[in-house]
Amino acid sequence: MDRRDVLKICGAAAAAGITGAGLYGFLSSGTDADGAPSEEVDVTEARYYRSLPNRAVQCELCFRGCRIPEGRNGFCRNRQNTDGTLRNVVYGQPSAVNVEPTEKEPMHHFLPGTNMLCIGTASCNFRCRFCHNWHLSQRSFDQVRRRHSYTPEQMARYGKRAGVPAVSFTYNEPTVFYEYMYDVAVAARREGLRPIFHSNGSLSPEPLRDLLQHIDAVTIDLKAFSDEFYSDLCGARREPVLETLKIIKEEGVWLEVVNLVLPGHNDEPAEIKEMCRWIRTELDAETPLHFSRFSPSYKMTDLSPTPVRTLERCRDIAHDEGLLYVSIGNVPGHEANSSFCPDCGTRIITRHHFTVSDIKMENGACAECGRKIAGVWE
Ligand code: SF4
Repeated sequence: MDRRDVLKICGAAAAAGITGAGLYGFLSSGTDADGAPSEEVDVTEARYYRSLPNRAVQCELCFRGCRIPEGRNGFCRNRQNTDGTLRNVVYGQPSAVNVEPTEKEPMHHFLPGTNMLCIGTASCNFRCRFCHNWHLSQRSFDQVRRRHSYTPEQMARYGKRAGVPAVSFTYNEPTVFYEYMYDVAVAARREGLRPIFHSNGSLSPEPLRDLLQHIDAVTIDLKAFSDEFYSDLCGARREPVLETLKIIKEEGVWLEVVNLVLPGHNDEPAEIKEMCRWIRTELDAETPLHFSRFSPSYKMTDLSPTPVRTLERCRDIAHDEGLLYVSIGNVPGHEANSSFCPDCGTRIITRHHFTVSDIKMENGACAECGRKIAGVWE
């Protein structure tokens, strides 16, 4: 049985209502999905990797494709090669669990005005020098003091008891806790909750497509539209992120895009224009785009906050390029916190930062002119 077989069995178990700790029992019960004898499988074992000589492994979860010798961890710190088996060391151990507004994701065209259960662990597969969540994302599992212990089923029941409609994988990059995210998403749907995630967009195509079968919406950070920005400020690459955005659209999952604007680094009008044109032509004009204000953080505390005028100029460029839903975030009280009908200009969702105070929509359409507004509204 190879790891793809394991994933198929995970899917069969999920369909049967068995995940996480239950999955362990399912897999160790003596038969697999086809009724053939099975071997025991630990849910902490990574689901996308291959074995190399001398008990080394190659992780195939994200664009890095780390080759990991025995006893070592991958670049993201969370994947450990123990005796030739790659394990996810944060499975079932989130470091942050909170109920937060859906708007905070940011996610503007998905159940506005609701809250969701937000889950994060430690570490990341990027090294962004400007990270706002660096206290989680740029630390290893061992360095983060707060750790909880929840099986996927417990987490889903927690969300149900909290009375929220959705569960979000956020705070740090969910790629680095993929197996846990996958199993919580399956368990959450079984409880009637909608799973979403916020990501840097670096999952490899196969695990991404597999995950999207259990996901209702995604927010992707498109950090800039230059390869230099990705390599110099994030220690990463832009191309896999563009591929991720296209795959999410192809799979028909609701998508919103965030661009954190750093003064002097990714705010050139020509670059903004190129990014917006790419979104319109490769995704579509109805994809919401959020321009978010940078505030000094992590290794870039010497950089000033983004001037509001710069964000407004970015929004104007996006509108000129034909994008229909463009907002400005991290500027509480700005008019562009709200959402507007692209046909008649009615303020269809009134927001102040993360708080929704009014919704002028009926059946997914503008209440004033009846124009259909793309999104997930019920
Ligand atoms: S998920 Fe982690 S270990 Fe795997 S390739 Fe990416 S950075 Fe490397």
